[in-house]
Amino acid sequence: MSYVHADIDSDYAIYVWIIGEFLTTEEARRRHRLYDELASVGKLSPALLVIREHLPSGRVCMRVNIDATKVGNVARFINHSCDGGNLRPILVRSSGSLLPRLCLFAARDIVDGEELAFSYGDAKPNPKGLPCFCESSCCPGVLPAEET
Ligand SMILES: [Zn+2]
Repeated sequence: MSYVHADIDSDYAIYVWIIGEFLTTEEARRRHRLYDELASVGKLSPALLVIREHLPSGRVCMRVNIDATKVGNVARFINHSCDGGNLRPILVRSSGSLLPRLCLFAARDIVDGEELAFSYGDAKPNPKGLPCFCESSCCPGVLPAEET
């Protein structure tokens, strides 16, 4: 879990960018299967994110796989919330960088002592997935997961 220790104003706040290994889709799929096995027996708490950018038509135009399971920063410990939480993930590009960064911005004002959380995705929950403990009113009890 990650908590803030000061008030954060959503008008200008950027919290953190997610650091991890950038993976090919093939490697992300391999690790996803391995992580699911290890997580199901409590031997791993994975942090593999798949981010898809969509065209206005709805078609996926870019996919970024970031694995912060073994190499990451504090963002790796920010929990999921089924109601979207208080952070919003946004892909940010800067000149000179081939890959975008996934940054977490304050989605609203956040008060001192509040737990930080964002939605890991809105994919349909997998009944065999990992349990979700976000306690939001819309929580189905399992984390969002999908085939990578
Ligand atoms: Zn939940």
